[in-house]
Amino acid sequence: MDTNNSKKQPGMPAESANRNPIPILGEVVKTSQSGVYAVKQRALVGKRYFVACPSCGKYIMVNPTEPKVMRVMHQPCNVPIIVGCVDNTQPAAPDPTTVRVHVAGQKTNGKLSWWTLSGRKSYTLKLGKNYVGRKEQSAPSHLSIKDEFASARSICIEAIQSPRGYFFHLTVERATNPVYVNGKELTAGCGIDLNFGDIIKLGKTSITFNSAKK
Ligand SMILES: [Zn+2]
Repeated sequence: MDTNNSKKQPGMPAESANRNPIPILGEVVKTSQSGVYAVKQRALVGKRYFVACPSCGKYIMVNPTEPKVMRVMHQPCNVPIIVGCVDNTQPAAPDPTTVRVHVAGQKTNGKLSWWTLSGRKSYTLKLGKNYVGRKEQSAPSHLSIKDEFASARSICIEAIQSPRGYFFHLTVERATNPVYVNGKELTAGCGIDLNFGDIIKLGKTSITFNSAKK
């Protein structure tokens, strides 16, 4: 499968507003978060696009200025749409269909739990970055799991405490062995905000993410 952003045309001449219509970004799809949509196609920083409101079909102008995931909304319909923006010089941006938008943080920190042959284990996240993966001396993880089918230092979960609560962001670092969140495969470079109750699968190990107070 071709995962390159082959639609990039860095050599294109400067646009004339009259002759080059503003392109429409497609395709608008539902995300794993209820009521939130995402655009599959990435937007290039410095260009202008239209995105169709999934509710009424009217176009919203998108004008990305930074290579990050942005959120746009057609105000009358109140439907959030996530757009992944990339810079020509910076290839990796998260897949917008894997990003969730939180309205509020969690009240407690989170923990990971999973089954081993000797019983249920758990790991309370520390604030900041927590690497998780197969035990490997050359690529150590904060949480090492005994699973030969998982990659070493495969994912990073960042726990952030803010006045609005705790937020948790998972980034896939290595996916030589596939990584799944709630059954959806995430490739290296993908990021997703975690909610309590999410299931992360590394190798043959299913890890449940929950409140540390549970
Ligand atoms: Zn609308």
